[in-house]
Amino acid sequence: MLAQSDRRIFPSAEDRYQHCLFCGKGIVVLPSDRRGGACFDCVSLLGPEAMPCPECGTEIDATSRAAGCARCGWFPNP
Ligand SMILES: [Zn+2]
Ligand SMILES: [Zn+2]
Repeated sequence: MLAQSDRRIFPSAEDRYQHCLFCGKGIVVLPSDRRGGACFDCVSLLGPEAMPCPECGTEIDATSRAAGCARCGWFPNP
């Protein structure tokens, strides 16, 4: 009947559209998203665990990924 299994409420129609930090693909980011700004393709490769910083190799926690690397200052630009 009603296909609402994936229906979600967004506070803003603008904020949820971003680009994957890793491949640049357009993604929809949910308020409770824990992908850290990565698309599903990339996050599936990275997994929920820490990823290495592209610049210095320091592991960046998945939840901190969007904030960049605290060690070398690498920041994920779209
Ligand atoms: Zn991606
Ligand atoms: Zn770094």
